Amino acid sequence: MKPIPFNKPFIIGRELSLIADAVAQGHLSGDGAYTKLCHRWFEEKLGCHKALLTHSCTGALEMAAILCDIQPGDEVILPSYTFVSTANAFVLRGAVPVFVDIRPDTLNIDEQLIEAAITPRTRVIVPVHYAGVPCEMDRIMEIAEKHRLLVVEDAAQALLSTYKGRALGSIGHFGCLSFHETKNIISGEGGALLVNDARFAGRAEVIREKGTNRSQFFRGEVDKYTWVDIGSSYLPSELVSAFLYAQLERADEIIAKRRSICTAYAMQLAPLQQSGKLRLANFDKDSNGHLFYVLLDSLDTRSRLIAHLKSQGIHPVFHYVPLHSSPAGRRYGREGSSMQATDALSDRLLRLPLFYEMNTGDIARITAAIREFFIS
Ligand SMILES: *Cc1c(COP(=O)(O)O)cnc(C)c1O
Repeated sequence: MKPIPFNKPFIIGRELSLIADAVAQGHLSGDGAYTKLCHRWFEEKLGCHKALLTHSCTGALEMAAILCDIQPGDEVILPSYTFVSTANAFVLRGAVPVFVDIRPDTLNIDEQLIEAAITPRTRVIVPVHYAGVPCEMDRIMEIAEKHRLLVVEDAAQALLSTYKGRALGSIGHFGCLSFHETKNIISGEGGALLVNDARFAGRAEVIREKGTNRSQFFRGEVDKYTWVDIGSSYLPSELVSAFLYAQLERADEIIAKRRSICTAYAMQLAPLQQSGKLRLANFDKDSNGHLFYVLLDSLDTRSRLIAHLKSQGIHPVFHYVPLHSSPAGRRYGREGSSMQATDALSDRLLRLPLFYEMNTGDIARITAAIREFFIS
């Protein structure tokens, strides 16, 4: 039988012709016409003050950590159940990541546990919108305001999800997006920093352009182009931006397709949930269908289900090793709450294949294989 991969990068329309156009325009480094079109798309569609494309979400998180002016010993509150970059970006500035447990329903940071983890050294809260499902942003922003903290949304998985009608990534002081080939909207590697607080916009441009005032110089606002601050090279090439823009043009269609795949999984697996064999992903009506997972009763069941699916050519994956129990997490960070839910859930979660070109036959085959596993 034809294998079903976990993910498959896709082209939806004009990606290659826009790349050809970028080549014809003769501007292949950063910040050409396609990068500017992408910036405008994000600013209009998400309602952020300023959008800046980066080479990755990791790069956007690193820029956010610099903009938060993190000093060695400062503390940053984040979930342990996340990708390494959420923590690494701040550790690179000398910060101590303080890990807080997740909510068992959404697997997002448990907002009720955040305040108890705050100390006089706390500077930033980093909510991660896992699976594109929103964190409790009202409560998180309220805590941040009360304790004068900044909020960096790790919205890597959350493009075009909403929270009470607002785009994820546009609510905190900063939002970070990813266009890695495993995300919903892709450019191979790619990301964006959303600057929602206008105070940080000027410095964000400088940090992204190697610490120079190049952007201001091109706008004619200064007469010299020089080194003014710390920074690095965070820009994507126009080739990447052209590819991305072709996907942004069709973003609503891509999201609708992924949501329909999640809905089909949820419907076809509902009987197994009702009989208590597994728990299905919390698939929020305001989320973008980024990923679909099942929670099994044990690590052993997960390993056996993976083997069963692989024997039928189906390739599910799991993640994450919780950061608080990883070698670097133990070296650089500490626990800011009990890790009860994180420890109880991370070994039991399995992500099912989900990609744009999946068809109803693929979904039926996968759900049939899962049913067969539980019946035999
Ligand atoms: C994918 C992901 C990242 C990293 O994105 P890159 O664009 O690959 O750097 C960061 N955080 C989370 C939660 C992610 O899912």
